[in-house]
Amino acid sequence: MATKVILVILDGLNYQVAHDCMGYLQGLTESGHATLYSMNSELPSMSRPLYECILTGIPPVISGIVNNNIVRLSTAESIFSLARKANKVTAAAAYYWVSELYNSAPYQPQRDRFTLNSHHPIQYGYFYHTDHYPDDHLLIDAENLRQRFDPDFLLIHPMNIDDSGHKYGLDSAQYRNTARRTDSILSHYLPTWREQGYQILITSDHGMNNDCSHGGVLPEERQVPLWVIGSAFSHQPDLRVPQTALCGSICHLLAIEYANKSICKALLKGTK
Ligand SMILES: [Zn+2]
Repeated sequence: MATKVILVILDGLNYQVAHDCMGYLQGLTESGHATLYSMNSELPSMSRPLYECILTGIPPVISGIVNNNIVRLSTAESIFSLARKANKVTAAAAYYWVSELYNSAPYQPQRDRFTLNSHHPIQYGYFYHTDHYPDDHLLIDAENLRQRFDPDFLLIHPMNIDDSGHKYGLDSAQYRNTARRTDSILSHYLPTWREQGYQILITSDHGMNNDCSHGGVLPEERQVPLWVIGSAFSHQPDLRVPQTALCGSICHLLAIEYANKSICKALLKGTK
């Protein structure tokens, strides 16, 4: 059965900091309403390559989106394009690189910041273009899209955790406190989303290191959280979910075709 899916990508969130600092999400985990997995990012552990990886299931070295400066549309089928083929409604509150990958490149803020165009792969998009755009504003943007357009697939992508990591590093009070703040912001919305029966995935593209950057193979750069919330998930403990399987697994939840996309069957309930 098709369900509606909300995918939250908390940019630049290291697994251990997510585990230690996000008390609301961990409360859902302790009470059995959510399950937290540790997931390894693909390489390089950088943003634009991994947005493409999460949203198409294709790792950077194959997709060709191998660094942050490649400004072009994705050439692969994404959750957005596949959902549109199935006549599903798509929306995103996200950094402008997402608009560049799936709607139009290069980004022109006057044209693209507020996108309401039913012919685009991302039909309803509010995109931002400064890394310090406040997470609480971004969540309001996302909730506005959800309430106005009732999307089947909604991507929510705040940037403040990554921004704080670039300024202060992994092992800093500022980075950890930003994760705590974002956890608290999410707590305003998750009760309603859960009540309304959404299947929710909360993850990150990559982690962060003590050099105030990321990109390589250090565990702190690669290990990211994956929380899943909702009745369509198996909630099995100790799963290794490949980052490349998020796309196919989300397509499965949306009950849309996902030919050539890998799927993590163990993550989903009733999938053999
Ligand atoms: Zn970053």
